Amino acid sequence: MRLTSYYMPTLREKPAEAEILSHQLMLRGGMIRKLASGIYSFLPLGYRVVRKVEEIIRQEMNAKGALEVFLPVVQPAELWRETGRWDRFGKELLRFKDRGEREFCLGPTHEEVITDLVRNELRSYRQLPVNLYQIHVKFRDETRPRFGLMRAREFVMKDAYSFDADERGLSRSYQDMYDAYSRIFTRCGLRFTAVEADTGAIGGDVSHEFMVWAETGEDVIVRCCRCGYAANLERAEFQPSKGKWDEGEKPLEKVYTPNMKTVEEVTGFLGVSPSCLIKTLLYQTEKGFVALMVPGDREVNETKVLHLLGVEELELAASVHVEEITGAPVGFAGPVGLKGVKLVADRTLDGMGNVVVGANEEDYHFVNATPGRDFSWDVAGDIVKARPGDRCHRCGTALEFSKGIEVGHIFKLGTKYSEAMGARFLDEKGQERPFVMGCYGIGVTRTAASAIEQSHDDDGIIWPISIAPFQCYLLPTNWERADIRNAAEGLYHRLLERGVEVLLDDRDERAGVKFKDADLIGMPIRVTLGERGIKKGLCEVKLRREERPRDVSIEQAIEEVVSMRDALFKEVAV
Ligand code: ATP
Ligand code: MG
Repeated sequence: MRLTSYYMPTLREKPAEAEILSHQLMLRGGMIRKLASGIYSFLPLGYRVVRKVEEIIRQEMNAKGALEVFLPVVQPAELWRETGRWDRFGKELLRFKDRGEREFCLGPTHEEVITDLVRNELRSYRQLPVNLYQIHVKFRDETRPRFGLMRAREFVMKDAYSFDADERGLSRSYQDMYDAYSRIFTRCGLRFTAVEADTGAIGGDVSHEFMVWAETGEDVIVRCCRCGYAANLERAEFQPSKGKWDEGEKPLEKVYTPNMKTVEEVTGFLGVSPSCLIKTLLYQTEKGFVALMVPGDREVNETKVLHLLGVEELELAASVHVEEITGAPVGFAGPVGLKGVKLVADRTLDGMGNVVVGANEEDYHFVNATPGRDFSWDVAGDIVKARPGDRCHRCGTALEFSKGIEVGHIFKLGTKYSEAMGARFLDEKGQERPFVMGCYGIGVTRTAASAIEQSHDDDGIIWPISIAPFQCYLLPTNWERADIRNAAEGLYHRLLERGVEVLLDDRDERAGVKFKDADLIGMPIRVTLGERGIKKGLCEVKLRREERPRDVSIEQAIEEVVSMRDALFKEVAV
């Protein structure tokens, strides 16, 4: 491709709206443009990356026997009502009406559509397993679209759905997808790990997320280096530490804590450590209000609470409700004498004593409160987030925390959707049974952006060879000069003949501009034809990730580039 016939509007300045590097560099490199919040257009260069990621996914999905389909983006409300998700999915589901007042949504995911597709036609166990996938646009009206392609509202996803006769079949399909995902992300040149994850709004019981290591990631990966346990923070378990309580039981005492509302204020005032205070937090669920009790130095893990209580909605109670329930303003809630709500304790409370709790009275707390004697609870469980210093629940080693970007997610759904939608097949005995399903997503556009987060320098992107828009940037420093121009034309055609994807910078621009653009858009190999070298029949070849170029004869340049490219591909081979 010649740059003069290409559309690549690069920007010199850092766009103010870009919060993270991938966003900034894709805008500056002329790869994407924002149309509206969380909605992006892909320009030729950016779309080539998306297509390459898609192609790797396609090859690996096909290799596992999955079949490609193409499902509608616009989905009727009735289907979503069958599974109850029309009401439950919340505001992420963009809903609208057609001219006949019929309700529709833009597909954020396709479990309903795919289950509907097979329910009347996939009938016999003999036809199973089946795995159908598509690579298509999804729409989710995210609360806070941000970081460019990372959390967009409209984005490209690969979603696959497997149908099996039983759990064993599902386990095989799941493992196939796990393996395919490992191959896909390796081939995309990413450093990643698979972690245990929560199943969220999609549902089901087993799930793994594929996380790309990156400081800018929104997810926290919790890992044990000894036994290999790895989980998303939402899910991460840890060994509860034993409560220290060796001073003997003391009498409950109400103390005056004027205007002290936060854990820091109260414990600072009383001269005790935050771990000796029990925070009581009121939440609203669809089943009523609950009071969560957790140690003052711990954070509530809302995902764990949802599971423990078997609820789907969990939101901090509004201050009016807190006042109604506790009789005091926010900041003074406590379990002693608290009525009318379900009391939920973190598992570590059992065994604690002489703790500080709110007194349900403005400006007062209790000290020396002791569970069992002064208060109790209805349910106990693990409801707090793991944190650095916690130990692995399997082997006791200290857990490690790092940031990651979720690029893929696989779920064992079981029969959740097939039961709800009456999707059944006939087994060997002629009996009707619901399909046992799995679903498997990859954020295609997020994957492309993740590659930049992992691979860049101060000057721009350093694409992995497998998803680079072009493999080689051919840079004649002076297009005016016939000798340079002719040599460049010759190299260009011979590289194309050898199957190298090459972008020829045939612009009449200063060399400095060309070098800047080359570094910004990040093709893995650069060949430079300059005034000094041309006289000796030399050109410079350089890997984008390396500092120094090497002189090679123009004759040898073709072989050199081909072997550099092949070596780069070997690095990401599976
Ligand atoms: P997240 O926790 O980041 O919101 P999710 O759990 O909602 O992700 P899934 O429903 O599992 O995501 O979707 C499958 C994949 O689609 C994700 O692994 C991610 O790579 C991608 N994805 C999800 N939401 C977005 C988004 N808003 N923008 C871009 N990609 C997304
Ligand atoms: Mg989401």
